[in-house]
Amino acid sequence: MAVLQEIADLRASLSAWQVYVQPFFGSFSGDAIKIGTTAVAQAAVLAQTETTAAASVVRALRSEGLVGNAGELEEANLSFKKAIGGFVPVIAGASAAVIKATLSAETAAYTQMLAVTVRAATDLRAKSTRDLQASIGRLDGGRKTVLIADVLVSFVIVIAVVVVGQHARRRERLARRATERQAYETAFQDALDMAKTESDAYALMTLAFEQTVAGLQVEMLVADSSRAHFHRTLSTAAPGDPQARSGCGVESPVDCPATRRGHTLAFPTSRAINACPYVKGRPSGDLSAACVPISLTGRTSGVVHATGPDGVEVTAIETQYLEITSRLAAERIAILRAFEKSETQARTDPLTGLWNRRSLENRVRDLAREGTRYALAYGDLDHFKVLNDTHGHEAGDQALRLFAGVLSDTVRPGDVIARYGGEEFVIVLPDCAVETATKVLERLREQLAITLTTGRVPPFTVSFGLASSIDADTFDGVVALADQALLAAKQSGRNRTVVAPHLHTVIDARVS
Ligand code: GH3
Ligand code: MG
Ligand code: MG
Repeated sequence: MAVLQEIADLRASLSAWQVYVQPFFGSFSGDAIKIGTTAVAQAAVLAQTETTAAASVVRALRSEGLVGNAGELEEANLSFKKAIGGFVPVIAGASAAVIKATLSAETAAYTQMLAVTVRAATDLRAKSTRDLQASIGRLDGGRKTVLIADVLVSFVIVIAVVVVGQHARRRERLARRATERQAYETAFQDALDMAKTESDAYALMTLAFEQTVAGLQVEMLVADSSRAHFHRTLSTAAPGDPQARSGCGVESPVDCPATRRGHTLAFPTSRAINACPYVKGRPSGDLSAACVPISLTGRTSGVVHATGPDGVEVTAIETQYLEITSRLAAERIAILRAFEKSETQARTDPLTGLWNRRSLENRVRDLAREGTRYALAYGDLDHFKVLNDTHGHEAGDQALRLFAGVLSDTVRPGDVIARYGGEEFVIVLPDCAVETATKVLERLREQLAITLTTGRVPPFTVSFGLASSIDADTFDGVVALADQALLAAKQSGRNRTVVAPHLHTVIDARVS
C-alpha cells in the first residue's frame, strides 16, 4: 500500500516537476534531454519523500540499468545526506540520470571524454554541496532553492556534456570525410594515370561525377585552341532524358563569369538577382548551380558546370568533389596534350601539319606488312621557284600551306599525305586502283584551281606522277616509278598527272 501510494504520489508530482524543470532543458532536443528532464523530475519527487529517498533513488537507478553506478551513488548519497539532508538524492539522481542519458546517446568513442566530464561533474557537485551547506542555513524553507541550485548544476553539466560531445562528434565526422576524400583522390589519380587519351579522361570524369555527386547533373565545357568557343566534352545527363536540365549556353571563356574570375561560383537559385545570366531562364526551368573553372594548359580553359534542383544549394562537400575531380583531370589532360603535341611534332611537318617523310615511310611499312596494296602519287608544285622569286618566300609558304589544305580536304580519311621535302608531296592511297587514284588527283587539281580563285595566294599548279605498289617490290621502288612518271609530267608541259604505264603493263603481263 505504501509503495502504491508512493507511486501514485510520484506520478502526480512528476508532471508538475517536468513542467518546472522543462524550461532549463527546453533549448535542447533529443532523447538524452528528455530522459534527463524526466530523471531530474523523478529525483526531485523522490526527494520529497525523505524517508525513502535514498532507497528510491537506488531503485530508480537499478530500473534504469545503472546497477554498476548504484553502489557508488549510494555512498555519495550517504555523505551528501549527512551534509544537506534529503536533497542529496536530487543531486545524485539528476546528475546520474543526465550522465546516463547522455551516455546512451553517445558512441563508445566518447566514453573517455565522458569519464573526464563525470569527474568534472563530481567536482561540481562537491563544490555545490559546500555552497549549499553555506546557504542552507541562511535560506528560509530552503528545499526549493536547493533544488533549483541543483537543477542549475545539472543544467551546466548537460551543457558541458552536450557541447563537448557535439564538438567531438563534429571533429570525428570531419576527420572521416577527409579520409574518404583522400582515398577518392588517390583512386581517381590512379585511374587517370591509366587514361591514354583525352576522351579516356572525360569518360573517367563522367564516372567520377556519377559516383561522387550523384544528385547533380554535371557537364564540362572546354575552349578550343583559339579560346574563342566552348565545346561540351562530357555530360552526365542521359541522352534523350526528358527530366534532364538544359546545359549551359555560354559560348566562350570570356563570357563565363566563373572562368573570368578564376574561382568556383555557386548559385542556389537561378531566380536570384545576382545569378549568372547563363543559369537564368533555362528552357528546363529554374535550378541551382555551381561552376568550377579549370585551366588545362596555361591559356586553354574550361568550366565544370553542375546543376541541381532550384533552391537546393550545391553543398560544400559536393563542391569539394567537383573541384578535386576537375583539378586532377585537368592536370592529366594537360599532360596528355603536351605528350600528343610532342608526338605530333615528331610526326608532322611544322609548316603544313602534314606527315613528314619518316612517318609516311613507317605507315607504308605497316601497309606492306598487312599486305595492303596502294597507289602512290608524287606531286611537285610547278615553277615554284618563280613564285618564290616573284612574290617572296612568305607567299611561297602560304602557297604550300594552301596546297596542304586542299590535299587534306580532297583525300579520304585513310589516305596518307606527306610533305616529302621542299615543294614535293607524296600521297598514298591504300586499296585504291590506279584509275581511281587518277580521278582523285584530277579532282585535286581542279579543287586547287578553284581555291586559288580567292586570290589570297598567287596562282600555281601541280604535276603528279602516279604508280602502284603492284609495280615494284619495295616502297622506294614505287616512289622511284612515281618520280619517273612525275618527270614525264613535267616534260610534257606540267599541271597534269602521268601514270607509270610501262612497268604497270609489264607487271600486268607477268601476272596474267
Ligand atoms: P618545276 O616546275 O620544275 O618543279 O620548277 P620549280 O621551280 O618548282 O623547281 P625547283 O626544284 O627548281 O624549285 C623548287 C623551289 O621550291 C625552290 C625553293 O625555293 C622552293 N621551296 C622549297 N621549299 C620551300 C619552302 O619551304 N618554302 C618556300 N617558300 N619555298 C620553298
Ligand atoms: Mg621540286
Ligand atoms: Mg617544283
